[in-house]
Amino acid sequence: MIEFRDVSKQFPGSPPVLRSVNLQVPDGDLLALIGPSGSGKSTLLRMVNRLVLPSSGSIWVDGRDVAQADVIALRRSMGYVIQNVGLFPHLTAAENVALVPNISGVPAEQRRARAHELLHLMGLEPATFEGRYPAQLSGGQQQRVGIARALAADPAYLLMDEPFSALDPVTREELQRQVHDLKRELGKTILFVTHDVEEAVRLGDQICLLGQGEVQQVGPPARF
Ligand code: ATP
Ligand code: MG
Repeated sequence: MIEFRDVSKQFPGSPPVLRSVNLQVPDGDLLALIGPSGSGKSTLLRMVNRLVLPSSGSIWVDGRDVAQADVIALRRSMGYVIQNVGLFPHLTAAENVALVPNISGVPAEQRRARAHELLHLMGLEPATFEGRYPAQLSGGQQQRVGIARALAADPAYLLMDEPFSALDPVTREELQRQVHDLKRELGKTILFVTHDVEEAVRLGDQICLLGQGEVQQVGPPARF
């Protein structure tokens, strides 16, 4: 479970971004975070893996205060996917995916097998795609590699910040289906930021609407 307890955030010299946010993402759920540009969605997400610190309040993951956690272990326990994946251009698709376990000291053969498995899971046949560089992949394929990479260390949590907003509607729908499957089959707990209410309704077990620095509404999709 990811839990925000009375979380506020103000960047120095700016008005408050978030005020007293209380929110829970139960294990195995996908919480879709929506709200206008600048409403603090990305900021809230980044506090979970401690890329941003709260000004007050606390964030709890698995019953542990993120502020007390070992930051490397914390980030390894959560996959992070952003809009423009940020694949390493000089590494192939398979190498990009194998990178994280590499850092963790997993043997090469095991890393390779895992990278294959994940590319396959994301709908990229390794025989065709493993050796390709990001520049040789479409936007949707790059995003698939990005998700495969986020899954490489088998994290319990996924933090996804508008992962599909740059994609065409068909690719987008395919990837939405894949995220849905990840949740159902692998039991991932997902915090998913999107601009798109339809996407939120399609994917979310819960939807949270942020606005004016506060949680305006939170509940199951049927209520939106
Ligand atoms: P978008 O939908 O456009 O991605 P968002 O809801 O993700 O917007 P955030 O990126 O969380 O919004 O930003 C919320 C507010 O915090 C914005 O006004 C932004 O300018 C401000 N902000 C974000 N990061 C910083 C920072 N490092 N320093 C100062 N202000 C920041
Ligand atoms: Mg954002």
